[in-house]
Amino acid sequence: MDFMKEGVGSLVNPILARHARDMNLARVNPMNQEMKSDRRGESRLEAIAAGKPVEAVIHERVLQAEPAVEIQDFSLWYGKKQALHGVTMPIPKGEVTALVGPSGCGKSTLLRSVNRMNDLIDGLTVSGDILLGGESILAPGVDVIALRKRMGMVFQKPNPFPMSIFENVVYPLRIDGVRDRQTLREVCEHSLRGAALWDEVRDRLHESGLSLSGGQQQRLCIARAIASDPEVLLLDEPCSALDPLATNKIEDLIQDLRGEYTILIVTHNMQQAARISDYTAFMYLGRLIEYGETSQIFTKPHLKETEDYVTGRFG
Ligand code: ADP
Repeated sequence: MDFMKEGVGSLVNPILARHARDMNLARVNPMNQEMKSDRRGESRLEAIAAGKPVEAVIHERVLQAEPAVEIQDFSLWYGKKQALHGVTMPIPKGEVTALVGPSGCGKSTLLRSVNRMNDLIDGLTVSGDILLGGESILAPGVDVIALRKRMGMVFQKPNPFPMSIFENVVYPLRIDGVRDRQTLREVCEHSLRGAALWDEVRDRLHESGLSLSGGQQQRLCIARAIASDPEVLLLDEPCSALDPLATNKIEDLIQDLRGEYTILIVTHNMQQAARISDYTAFMYLGRLIEYGETSQIFTKPHLKETEDYVTGRFG
């Protein structure tokens, strides 16, 4: 393929066929002029490591998209240790955005900040803001429980509750005091269908959620997140504990869920980010470095540092 000759390492390129059209666009995009100038001079990563302020490069397409979530100049400290430095990042509505970067660069911290999962950590301080649907999630008086229903979260390790498949899925409704059997049954089926698990479990809804395979358990957790009808799904390395077959199923599911939900996913797997996301944000040492369409980030990033990372030259 043509793009194999473009100079970006071949490590991730073979899996980018679906982005071929975008890549042709990328070649004539005038923004690539900017890339040339950015590739000269001191490495941004060196400057960041030396504590110098370095502005993120955010591609025009990201800025043009309608945002579901807007992270605005957001910084976070664990005690005295600063883990996030002035991250500004709109998350496009109805699309899949991947957060990538070396271990410890703040991906999970940022993801957990978006639904205030970090709230209970002692000594945590934040500055800046995060908006959901245009409203601050950090404002005084925000109902955090209600906020988390609008933002379903799925973790690295599947965490079904020790109860039946049915009760796992309808758990968020039980918390709300919903008792009507018909409503519970409908939400259960709708959510399990949404999580591509219905056909596998429809005859065993009253068996324990823990009896399922790892991949099924993760789809059960996605069904539980969907049951509260969220706007955003936050996925923290959802495939890292799964085998390749189960990983494929979750990746297919993420593709199916795009459009209906805004998805923000942390992944350490570059091939996965390239396969499933519309946008990719590259982070380093608590800062956003470059953020753009996945097709651009993996084939024609504006920064050499991004290219080096996505092609596996460091990290
Ligand atoms: P990533 O997801 O990119 O691997 P994390 O968000 O987990 O990165 O971590 C970012 C930084 O914050 C790391 O230096 C990590 O050690 C630190 N960190 C994460 N969680 C906590 C915590 N609960 N308390 C103190 N430091 C933390």
